[in-house]
Amino acid sequence: HTNEMQLIFDSRSSNESFARVTVAAFMTSLNPTVEEVSDVKTAVSEAVTNAIIHGYEGEVHNICIRCRTKEQTLFVEIEDFGKGIEDVEKAMEPLFTTKAEAERSGMGFSFMEAFMDSLEVESTPGKGTLVKMSK
Ligand code: ATP
Ligand code: MG
Repeated sequence: HTNEMQLIFDSRSSNESFARVTVAAFMTSLNPTVEEVSDVKTAVSEAVTNAIIHGYEGEVHNICIRCRTKEQTLFVEIEDFGKGIEDVEKAMEPLFTTKAEAERSGMGFSFMEAFMDSLEVESTPGKGTLVKMSK
């Protein structure tokens, strides 16, 4: 059977670990390996951090996480309603960052891609960003 949960929380960096741990707890019904849990936590952490620092640029607004398990697969969606991304393809290139001065390395999307089995990003400038991943 499938199982679902949704989480809405403030875009504060103090909530980043809460989000990552909650998704990890949700996926325990799949009996994941330690490595799989670690991979999902890394990817969630990167997406939530992006929503906080790029999407909302430090302002506090809602971040929404939707999770679903189906058979042995976890589907995770992380959404913000912030500034959005002009060129998604470019943003997803390794080392691309719009915040080089703030010590960002431009590797967040590359990590999500490497640690998850699938990654899709939908974004509309001025409306927000939706990151869809599965593992
Ligand atoms: P790092 O993740 O290594 O700290 P980074 O966040 O700049 O650096 P990525 O996570 O790969 O690198 O993101 C690349 C770029 O995509 C960001 O610099 C930013 O311009 C844009 N971006 C990513 N997520 C969002 C988002 N939720 N809202 C708006 N822009 C985003
Ligand atoms: Mg990032």
